[in-house]
Amino acid sequence: MNNKIWLSSPHMGGTEEAYVKEAFDTNWIAPLGPNVNGFEGDIKAYLGNDKEVATISSGTAGIHLALILLDVTKDDLVLCQSFTFSASANPIIYQGATPVFIDSEEDTWNMCPVHLEEGIKDCISQGKKPKAIIAVHLYGMPFKVDEIIAISKKYGIPIVEDSAEALGSTYKNQKCGTFGDIGVLSFNGNKIITTSGGGALVCNSTILKEQAVFLATQARDDAPHYEHSHIGYNYRMSNICAGIGRGQMEVLDKHVGLRRNMHAFYQTLFQGIEGVTVFNEPSQDYFSNHWLSAILIDPNSSHGVRREDLRHAFAKAKIESRPLWKPMHLQPVFKQAKYYGSRVSEELFENGLCLPSGSNLSDADRDRIEKVIFTLFKR
Ligand SMILES: *Cc1c(COP(=O)(O)O)cnc(C)c1O
Repeated sequence: MNNKIWLSSPHMGGTEEAYVKEAFDTNWIAPLGPNVNGFEGDIKAYLGNDKEVATISSGTAGIHLALILLDVTKDDLVLCQSFTFSASANPIIYQGATPVFIDSEEDTWNMCPVHLEEGIKDCISQGKKPKAIIAVHLYGMPFKVDEIIAISKKYGIPIVEDSAEALGSTYKNQKCGTFGDIGVLSFNGNKIITTSGGGALVCNSTILKEQAVFLATQARDDAPHYEHSHIGYNYRMSNICAGIGRGQMEVLDKHVGLRRNMHAFYQTLFQGIEGVTVFNEPSQDYFSNHWLSAILIDPNSSHGVRREDLRHAFAKAKIESRPLWKPMHLQPVFKQAKYYGSRVSEELFENGLCLPSGSNLSDADRDRIEKVIFTLFKR
């Protein structure tokens, strides 16, 4: 009996348990301790660029903290990439602020600089300058960093860089997660490395990091008793989870290589299959970790094969695949929200499919994937 092939499943490197055991042996079973400090140091060393890192309970918590640190409050406007996972946008609502969604462009599938500027100008002309820009490196593909940063600087609106899917990716040789005023990483179970659940906030100063940790640990003022002059959160990472993270950091680059091999496998597989394009870096400036490999199927040139046909054929063979993210401006929960764009993200959603991309897939798994594709496309 064949096992299920997952889109992206956890892949341990081998040393994780030793770090976790050490936490047990020394009784650091708490949301602080040597693994938390060690993991933060490991990420800092990896990202370079004089960054400060605070590990937290999730990527979502990181985006929430980022908005708080950028002083986003009730009724503020926040510009957000529409084509993303809901966790990019939900923290805007946690703050009582209002999301304004921006379409993607076709090169990187990420935030379109033209529609971003259009949105900013329109908001300003209506008397309200947005407080932040949430831009996402989706599927590990860096967004148009130079263009988005230029707009951020021109209008003085800070960037929250959602790098949840892009640890290990680079733009012009600089690591994703280091471009925003605040960067956010995720270590959820399906991400490129995992701590079972967790995240990190990346920032430019120790003061900002200390503020993030203060808010993430219930905002206790300096006093012998519990004194609070701010609303706090319980968002810090556990020392157990951080132990897993330390082990995962040792294999991060290896796992990026393996994901990129999966992407190369699909590029070869779909060569000469009409109507299918594999999502790829637009130029040498972009280096994607290819967290998920994705394709577009153009039903007008694929001899009648549609995205859903491939998804169903995979499901029958116990292979997981999934449509691309449904844009936020099409989600029932955000139907009131403003949107600037055309139909780029809508068409990606209609015709796109994410393929099994894990760093732990075997040759036998790849054979099964190939067979489904070649049967459906009659190769
Ligand atoms: C996973 C993800 C998040 C949220 O991270 P969690 O750690 O699951 O809370 C945010 N944004 C994007 C684009 C993601 O893929």
